[in-house]
Amino acid sequence: MFWTVSSTAGLGVKYYIDPSTYEDPNEAIREFAKEIDVSFIKIEEVIGSGEFGEVCFGRLKHPGKREYTVAIKTLKSGYTDEQRREFLSEASIMGQFEHPNVIHLEGVVTKSRPVMIVTEFMENGSLDSFLRKEGQFSVLQLVGMLRGIAAGMRYLSDMNYVHRDLAARNILVNSNLVCKVSDFGLSRFLEDDASNPTYTGGCKIPIRWTAPEAVQYRKFTSSSDVWSYGIVMWEVMSYGERPYWDMSNQDVINAIDQDYRLPPPPDCPTVLHLLMLDCWQKERVQRPKFEQIVSALDKMIRKPSALKATGTGSSRPSQPLLSNSPPDFPSLSNAHEWLDAIKMGRYKENFDQAGLNTFDVVSRMTLE
Ligand code: AMP
Repeated sequence: MFWTVSSTAGLGVKYYIDPSTYEDPNEAIREFAKEIDVSFIKIEEVIGSGEFGEVCFGRLKHPGKREYTVAIKTLKSGYTDEQRREFLSEASIMGQFEHPNVIHLEGVVTKSRPVMIVTEFMENGSLDSFLRKEGQFSVLQLVGMLRGIAAGMRYLSDMNYVHRDLAARNILVNSNLVCKVSDFGLSRFLEDDASNPTYTGGCKIPIRWTAPEAVQYRKFTSSSDVWSYGIVMWEVMSYGERPYWDMSNQDVINAIDQDYRLPPPPDCPTVLHLLMLDCWQKERVQRPKFEQIVSALDKMIRKPSALKATGTGSSRPSQPLLSNSPPDFPSLSNAHEWLDAIKMGRYKENFDQAGLNTFDVVSRMTLE
């Protein structure tokens, strides 16, 4: 198995291996996930329901080691071989990753029933419901969460892993507000689930989160993940609002095709909305890389005054979507012209206050 490739700098670069390329999926599980003795696990309560069965809270204690709180996903009885394979594929993927912003796999139970996947426990559950429930954080706390998600995605894209379903519902939050990317199933686009409007409509693609080239011709890449990341930024800054509100999937597709984009959520710092717009560039090669997103967010965290300038929005705007026709950058000489070009002239005063007056300064601000 080739999974260590020497780069020109002589450093080992580790790539993700798609478990479906294994002839025997059990071999992938053996290779990437530790088998846990079921007697080391105590299941305490059911906390949710997953695609394949219940998700429980519990404790894991290996002999001679300290006890951990864990989440335990179970595979409901009566499953087919195919379902077992799909269920365990998530563990074969997760087990290849090791990063503070990616959910950590403790191991699997496959030698007794029910089959289980055991991961670290994330006290605050999924990010979308957490934000809707809690609803009050400082801008710096929100940017800190976004930074964590971007760092997790930078790691995954460096591993050549394309997530395809990056959304706040698939980010988990622990008690220290650390956000971790989760949900690595291979199955989510395969079967129609009529009970779930996010994934229905024939194509099983979560339209509102997905880049246009992935919706149109299934071109999923780390750049389409960057588009989805921009939508996650919008979800976070709007405390879990539904992207594009009650618009239909077809209306969203049409609006995006006509270069409309989501406006800044209420009180959202302008620099963050500009970063979102960058993630939603029509041409995927023009979108920033996760590496650039992490450093842009780091800069904001180091210099929070950059987060002071916000638009005026205090509720859902009267004009729902922004027209974002690609401006002719070379012909723009100053920040005012640029803001006019992207129909954001109302931010001129904020830009002046922040000393962002030449186009050169502005273009570096959005790209870095
Ligand atoms: P999933 O099947 O991964 O979508 O999980 C279903 C639900 O279970 C999630 O929306 C979470 O609320 C909860 N959940 C899953 N994994 C964890 C975890 N590691 N820690 C805490 N809650 C979890």
